[in-house]
Amino acid sequence: MGAVALSHLSMASQEIEALSSALARLPGLGPRSARRAVLHLLKRRESALEPLLAALQTVSANLATCSNCGNVDTSDPCTMCRDPRRDERLLCVVEEVADLWALDRSRLFPGRYHVLGGRLSALDGVRPEDLGIDKLVARVAAGGIDEVVLAMNATLEGQTTAHYLAERLENFPVRLSQLAHGLPVGGELDYLDEGTLAQALRARRPVV
Ligand SMILES: [Zn+2]
Repeated sequence: MGAVALSHLSMASQEIEALSSALARLPGLGPRSARRAVLHLLKRRESALEPLLAALQTVSANLATCSNCGNVDTSDPCTMCRDPRRDERLLCVVEEVADLWALDRSRLFPGRYHVLGGRLSALDGVRPEDLGIDKLVARVAAGGIDEVVLAMNATLEGQTTAHYLAERLENFPVRLSQLAHGLPVGGELDYLDEGTLAQALRARRPVV
């Protein structure tokens, strides 16, 4: 038997192999990290495997897209829409749920969010009606919002989307703002691309 035949031999049962390959398909994990994770779970049934299983089952059973803001959570309306400590007058519009989570990790935005579910793209055929834009306009039209932050990505499509939203919202009595683009924290000028430098120059502010 040569190496070819050996490659057909399995190290573990089909069930464990199936778990391994399911984990390996997750973003950020490859076959090697998946095998390490599986081994970890197998060795720690009570402290790791069972709590993970319980958490997955609970989330899977209750998974919902918030009908108000488009966030993904285990309740509809989502936790953020129901939180009375969040300022209803401030609304931050993002492309994806991942952007909402990223911004909220900063703990600097006390308001609520609206997830579009993508960005306008002529290339990919994404039109305004494919995104949660009408819902956003309806939220703003309902009143009670002072400021809408257009927190799109600093990409051509993100900025096209922001311009489109600004046009759709221009007749409402709300302040429109967008995230500043420019120097990353710890960034050295010499290493930055021209687009980032140009944005940083445009967004320059007085020294206080
Ligand atoms: Zn929500």
